Amino acid sequence: GPGDEVVVIAGLTKRYGPRTVVDDLSLTVRRGEVYGFLGPNGAGKTTTLRALLGLVRPTSGTATVLGRPAGSPSAGVGALIEGPGFYPYLSGRENLRVLARYAGAPAGRVDAVLDTVDLTDRARDRYSTYSLGMKQRLGVAAALLKDPELVVLDEPTNGLDPAGISDMRALLRRLSADGHTVLLSSHLLGEVEQVCDRVAVISSGRLVVESSVGELLGLRRLVIEAEPLG
Ligand code: ATP
Repeated sequence: GPGDEVVVIAGLTKRYGPRTVVDDLSLTVRRGEVYGFLGPNGAGKTTTLRALLGLVRPTSGTATVLGRPAGSPSAGVGALIEGPGFYPYLSGRENLRVLARYAGAPAGRVDAVLDTVDLTDRARDRYSTYSLGMKQRLGVAAALLKDPELVVLDEPTNGLDPAGISDMRALLRRLSADGHTVLLSSHLLGEVEQVCDRVAVISSGRLVVESSVGELLGLRRLVIEAEPLG
């Protein structure tokens, strides 16, 4: 029912001058699902997520989170959208303490979220010594500080090596098991298909396909099997 809809994007359009970057986009993310927002670079994923967070004003259409207009304070959303400015010479834990203070999150949350992102063992090490995967996971930890119902992650697997991608997938599964609704973007279906319940594919700002991952994989198998050999 409507109470299960955590994100509702309806007819969202964003134009920059003559360019239409997001074009009449509508999608819904339901409570408890991991929703993959897929498309090539420049397709309009980041712009859509920024509109959802109230960081971009739509040209037309609406985005609501948990029944409230995008960008409302205390909307119950935590996001990793562009790297939060972490201090290289502070440890992972010290960085999160700074952010927790700014965000008004209880100090006790810091160790809890470090544990969630599997960084407890490296919490005392300087941020500058972290691998890209660890940096991304610390970014997710920052998004979790206020224990949001919805977690929005822009390209969390981008640039990671296979081990880093696998660690991030494990983390995404943990977020879901902990009861968060997750909306993440990626330009590679293969990096996220194993953890997504449903995916939307956008191209040039338009929604091309929205389906369960099972349906999408079935579709792909059909297409591959239909291809002539040689
Ligand atoms: P990427 O993975 O590269 O971030 P994306 O799907 O997230 O791709 P967006 O960042 O949303 O794509 O950008 C979509 C298009 O809108 C791009 O061509 C980009 O150059 C353009 N764009 C984004 N922000 C602005 C802006 N403030 N002014 C003008 N054009 C913009």
